Amino acid sequence: MIITNNLTKQYGGNTALDHLNLEVKEGEIYCLLGANGAGKTTTINLLLGFIPPSSGSAFINQLDVQENSKATKQFLAYIPENLMLYPNLTALENLDYFSGIAGKTLSKSDLKIVLEEAGLEQEAFENRISTFSKGMRQKVGIAIALAKDAKVLLLDEPTSGLDPKASNEFGLLLQKLRSKGVATLMATHDLFRAKEVATHIGIMKDGQLKQQFVADAISLPELEKAYLNTMEYKELVP
Ligand code: ATP
Repeated sequence: MIITNNLTKQYGGNTALDHLNLEVKEGEIYCLLGANGAGKTTTINLLLGFIPPSSGSAFINQLDVQENSKATKQFLAYIPENLMLYPNLTALENLDYFSGIAGKTLSKSDLKIVLEEAGLEQEAFENRISTFSKGMRQKVGIAIALAKDAKVLLLDEPTSGLDPKASNEFGLLLQKLRSKGVATLMATHDLFRAKEVATHIGIMKDGQLKQQFVADAISLPELEKAYLNTMEYKELVP
């Protein structure tokens, strides 16, 4: 569902992303870890077609993002760290609006079913987004992905700033999408959540993918050690 072939992005003399080769298949959750400036957001922006690559290519559902920018967007849902929703519209109105943009017209009762599936409490359906916590806004983001029937979900630090319960709920929602076959790529600093939800984990540094793991094959302490070693924080590794 997601493939990058030697995907590279340079800004002047700075290589933000260096020959990235990555694959995320249907029903997989790939978590990208890496320090600030490692190239995680650049990867997501390239997959979204927001920026052109310097070389290499990115594919969504077998379509080259550069050549089929509009077509690839119909398969994608994107949840950044701070999801932009209309603060003065309710959850239902936002979902109606954004699913409409994606070409899906849902009845009010169907919109409610989707919000419920995304884990939003019913009492909040008709409340303005301006009254929502970050966790509730993220649920509306998941509802938009569900309404759009997205095949690919791109997440940029979606759990940062969420309390442990909200972060746990978010992880469960990702598992639900996974069971529907959605391919998810999530950039995160949250090793614990990555280990909880991921099927695959990659560690980036200086624009390069340094290590990859099948999540089930590595424990959380092993993952932390691998991360710290990759970052060359050797003195901190017990
Ligand atoms: P963070 O965890 O802080 O979000 P990241 O892993 O997402 O970091 P990127 O935002 O992808 O890192 O940045 C990778 C590199 O590319 C950094 O050196 C950054 O300064 C550089 N970079 C990103 N966007 C631009 C830009 N528009 N112009 C110039 N350099 C950029």
